[in-house]
Amino acid sequence: MEKQDQLLMKKQNKNLVLEIIKQQSPISRMEIAKVTGMSPTTITRIVNELHLQGFVRETELVTSGVGRKAVLLDVCGDVLYTIGVELDKSIIKIGIVNYIGEIVSCKSISRDPLEKYEETLGKVTNLMKELIGSHNVPNEKIIGVGVGLPGLIDYQRGIVTVSDQLKWKNVRLAADLQELTGFEVKIDNELKMKIVAENISGKARESKNAVLVGIGSGIGSAIILNGEIYRGESNNAGEIGHTVLDPTGNVCNCGKIGCLATYISEGAILSDSRKVKDITSIEEVFNAYRSGESWAINILERTSTYIALAISNILCLYNPEVIIISGSTIQNFPEIKEAIEKKCDLYIWEPIKEKVKIVYSDLRERGVVLGAALQAQNTLLELE
Ligand SMILES: [Zn+2]
Repeated sequence: MEKQDQLLMKKQNKNLVLEIIKQQSPISRMEIAKVTGMSPTTITRIVNELHLQGFVRETELVTSGVGRKAVLLDVCGDVLYTIGVELDKSIIKIGIVNYIGEIVSCKSISRDPLEKYEETLGKVTNLMKELIGSHNVPNEKIIGVGVGLPGLIDYQRGIVTVSDQLKWKNVRLAADLQELTGFEVKIDNELKMKIVAENISGKARESKNAVLVGIGSGIGSAIILNGEIYRGESNNAGEIGHTVLDPTGNVCNCGKIGCLATYISEGAILSDSRKVKDITSIEEVFNAYRSGESWAINILERTSTYIALAISNILCLYNPEVIIISGSTIQNFPEIKEAIEKKCDLYIWEPIKEKVKIVYSDLRERGVVLGAALQAQNTLLELE
């Protein structure tokens, strides 16, 4: 074997062993040898290296089947950290996440929807410093930052192509934030970050084919196909908000007529409500529904119909094992779940309906921060 190949194989083996300890801890060296098919000598060598690098520790002694004592291994959560950042129209949220995916600290501050790009970056930098300082996380243990935000994101070049919510166009977010903080920065669309969190520790755990739908100020989705994020040609796969459902319908802010977003987004619900009543917030619409006002019932019933239509279309396109519904509309107005489920039952094609799990996200407001940090870990961690 060429030397290059040997080195690559050694690296892959080390990654595999660490991954197994992470997933199945506490676990003995013997067990790891059994699972991987590697020799006990190889496992001992790899575990020693991982121990020296701080990734693995010995936890307890157990008596194995033949009466010998076996030492169990576990991973050390504090060996390294990544930082997750969520940016949205009116909020900046930052969390420090350890190696085993626990948020050790999280804080959010408000963002003025009209504030300048530089101002937001300044706020992010300061809040990050504050969090790191107050939790005494040494800078050298932080391997990088992940940022999730709404919009069309060139994740490879680290550029926000366009974000309507943040009012940004062609900004070099990754490079600019890297310069300010000193950390390597990875950016992506918020839902793509969120599905990473769902895939590692949420409702799509270990699923190879999953879809996450986000419903709130906009509507979008993220897709995992065969265990990988499906991005399409320009990272826009999943942008279902501008699929046209009714060519004679409402005008969308994208300039087309009858886009899905014009029936489901909070802005759309609000502007339709204002045709009937002087409403200032989406909560008022939800409350009007709760007190039985027929206009609010009509509008939100229609919203649930279009959500169910969107879900049934996504299921036909991707045939996922699980579809996770998330977002502020579901969180703040859980009553809509029942209506969505009833209509899903009507619209979803039978052969798909039998197999798919339709669930709601548990990650709530932590999803994007956690996913962004985990994605930074996935892409930036290089075992030596
Ligand atoms: Zn549109």
